[in-house]
Amino acid sequence: MKRLIVVSNRLPYQVQESEGKVTLRQSDGGLVTALKSFFEEEARKGGTIEKRWVGAADFPEKRWKKFKAQENAEQTFEIDPIFIEKKTYSKFYNGFCNATLWPLFHYFPSYVEYDEETFQAYEAVNHAFADMLLSFLKPGDTLWIHDYQLLLLPGMIRQKLPDISIGFFLHIPFPSYEIFRMLHRTWKEKIIRGMLGADLLGFHTHEYVQHFLKTVRMVAGYDHQFRSIIVDNRIIKADLFPLGIDYAKFHDAANVPAVIEQRETIRKNFQDKKIIFSVDRLDYTKGVTHRLLGFEKFLEAYPDWKERVVFVLVVVPSRQIISKYNERLKLIEEQVGSINGKHSTLSWQPIIYRYSNLAFDELCALYEAADAALITPLRDGMNLVAKEYAASRAQEDGVLILSELAGAANEMGEAILVNPVDTADMANAISTALTMPVQEQRHNMKLLQKRLKDYTVIHWVNDFLKQLEEVRSQQSEQE
Ligand code: UDP
Repeated sequence: MKRLIVVSNRLPYQVQESEGKVTLRQSDGGLVTALKSFFEEEARKGGTIEKRWVGAADFPEKRWKKFKAQENAEQTFEIDPIFIEKKTYSKFYNGFCNATLWPLFHYFPSYVEYDEETFQAYEAVNHAFADMLLSFLKPGDTLWIHDYQLLLLPGMIRQKLPDISIGFFLHIPFPSYEIFRMLHRTWKEKIIRGMLGADLLGFHTHEYVQHFLKTVRMVAGYDHQFRSIIVDNRIIKADLFPLGIDYAKFHDAANVPAVIEQRETIRKNFQDKKIIFSVDRLDYTKGVTHRLLGFEKFLEAYPDWKERVVFVLVVVPSRQIISKYNERLKLIEEQVGSINGKHSTLSWQPIIYRYSNLAFDELCALYEAADAALITPLRDGMNLVAKEYAASRAQEDGVLILSELAGAANEMGEAILVNPVDTADMANAISTALTMPVQEQRHNMKLLQKRLKDYTVIHWVNDFLKQLEEVRSQQSEQE
């Protein structure tokens, strides 16, 4: 591989300006960290890959021009920001991406908005990405396109450059055909045609791969064999690549002084109590209101736990401009108020609620201080929080209660799996978690940790890129 171009909706860098100087700051997203480690390893082996990252800019073009005019230190990635007109970007992002595809792919069909204008904006933004890429792509390049914001892009590139290598990874669920078919006919066809522009399509779970293959047959008429599809004499492969985490980063956080300090403060504050913890972005898919019902049911069904347990519930702000998200926030806050109002005593409050971002140190301190994590999305492509909680348990104790509808449940059978809308099931699971003997906790946690350590996000990157090369050589053999 000579040149890798990663493409995602947003760039993994913040571009900041202070005192007349513009600087780039790498965000700490899992993908960019993993790719960086992957390239470092390649460089150690003597490989020289040129890499670029293409994404929509969330900073003014003027600032970018200033950055380019300065003398700058070398970065891991050359970045190519795309500047998209504000209104179009909003219709694309808040419209088709997050009011149509997001709810539909997470099985919330009644939340889906059908608006031709937002689909047109979606096409326009995918075109803007294609134009930027086509301005510099050359034969021999490899493209790795990410996620549901860019489903049309592989097809747009393939049309112009039939021989380029394209990988695509979907970070959210791919729904069953019965759900997917609810999209307008032209949207469905364009989306599937767009995805089929890739050589390799990656998904988190076996189910998502199966759903995709069936959808391809129903929408475009192509059959599949051993997860391969032949389109215009070209073999395309769909396969599962369950996203991992940077295991060492979370596991080793237990030794970081700032984490230790905050963990001890939390433990001291709740000395004689068990701590249950959850953290999610504000999103109806995360199941927070059902989780609160489950917790309340637990307090009612197991009243001995009153004053002996606290539930630390952190909600991270997200997509505030979309009305469904604001409604959700109100519901959560009302429910927290009502449960606390009903069950608190003068010396105890069952739910400690926070609506804010958490710094990495604080997040790890909470993971470590918590006797149990209660992660109950109604649907989730994967759910990394569940994996991070398990990785953070340096003492190998702690219990993970996880929704069976999270992609992560496929790999985390040692967690207590629950149905996220079954409040009685959740109440019993909480009781089981809080009374689980330490030996049993350790047995389960060790198995969970082994799996997370054996397949980290770096393995995931390696695996995907290796398979992409294999599909490409299969194609050349076929010619
Ligand atoms: N996270 C974050 N800010 C916070 C709290 C958590 O960035 O204030 C991180 C968390 O560590 C995890 C990610 O956000 O890596 C959430 O990933 P997940 O797959 O659980 O859900 P998503 O938000 O992608 O739907």
